[in-house]
Amino acid sequence: MMGTKGLLLIFDGMGDRPVPELGEKTPLEAADSPNLDRAASDGVNGIMDPIAPGVRPGSDTSHLAYIGLDPYRVYSGRGPIEAAGIGLDVKPGDIAFRCNFSTVDEDMVVTDRRAGRIVEGTDQLARLLDGMEIEGVKVILKESVAHRGALILRGEGLNADVSDVDPHEEGRPLHWAKALDSGSEKTARVLNELVKISHEKFSEHELNEKRAEEGLPPANVLLPRGAGKLSQVRTFEERYGIKGAAIAEVGLIYGVASIGGLDIIRVTGSTGGLDTDAMEMIKAAIRATEDHEFVMMNIKGCDIAGHDGDAEAKVKMVEKIDRAVGYLLSHSTDDMYVVLTADHSTPVSIMNHSGDPVPVCMLGRGVRVDDVKEYGERSCSKGGLGRIRGSDLMDILLDLMDRAEKFGA
Ligand code: ZN
Ligand code: ZN
Repeated sequence: MMGTKGLLLIFDGMGDRPVPELGEKTPLEAADSPNLDRAASDGVNGIMDPIAPGVRPGSDTSHLAYIGLDPYRVYSGRGPIEAAGIGLDVKPGDIAFRCNFSTVDEDMVVTDRRAGRIVEGTDQLARLLDGMEIEGVKVILKESVAHRGALILRGEGLNADVSDVDPHEEGRPLHWAKALDSGSEKTARVLNELVKISHEKFSEHELNEKRAEEGLPPANVLLPRGAGKLSQVRTFEERYGIKGAAIAEVGLIYGVASIGGLDIIRVTGSTGGLDTDAMEMIKAAIRATEDHEFVMMNIKGCDIAGHDGDAEAKVKMVEKIDRAVGYLLSHSTDDMYVVLTADHSTPVSIMNHSGDPVPVCMLGRGVRVDDVKEYGERSCSKGGLGRIRGSDLMDILLDLMDRAEKFGA
């Protein structure tokens, strides 16, 4: 017997705005979602600003806030989260970057940022540099999906205020890194040296000879960007005295989870796309509560439909989620508290994240059930939770779970 459990289900980018083709309903309002509505009826509801009113959250910053970390303190760039997301052990003080394996010509002009959408062999290139030392700084490099990878510089005297080497556009020369403040000069120097070495070593590698024979552009340089320094973070267990796990579909969320000290659980059938197996994910989340008091789950699909501007696909994704939530409602146990929310809105009309608040529903024993009968952006705003922030979520959940500490006497 482990006592109460908390299950935080985050539907990525689910929030939206009224859509004319849906009769001025949001995709969530338009969807046939009896189970989400049942949850709203049985729970206490509200509306939530993931970071603060009007702030457009990234998926990473909102998830940090939801698991009780201050994104303004912890988040200094996407690098550390990407690196953690592909399984690198990022340590406090490390400078981490996202990077591409790319193509440059003889004048170091970037001709293809994705090296012809390279799919194979970047692991061989990463090994050429991984483990090197430059000025006493250790280089850790790991390939990720396709042309992507993550880089860590580990050593004394490093800071993350350096400009991107990646020019972010093809047809432009790569930008040698510049220190943006006086504490980051060594980082810029080491980074530039590494990029030079990457060009030399990658160019000579047999992988690129083979690519040339096949008429493919060579992956002949490493282009780092998004420098960030990981600050000291106490583990989830240290902060809350309970064990937490995360189930997600994309590296970015796993990166947040890993930095936040949650155990990573992968689910077969979770694709990160609209075709994902939401039901398997929900089942895995329920199983995870057997040995974790807290489980966070992110299902990505709604965000993809939002970025695509595809209202119909978003409605369908909500309906798929609804069926999985139906399974959860009929299998949740008496000691379980469930939170249903989104990490931000991704309105189909703007095809990007917006600062609109998201619906939030909490259910479990003893919650102050309100009059809300429908799970939606506007209906939930009339509920008993009122308007909260992402940083309030963990406190409210832990209090419901009877795991909060008293403030004062
Ligand atoms: Zn997101
Ligand atoms: Zn998004």
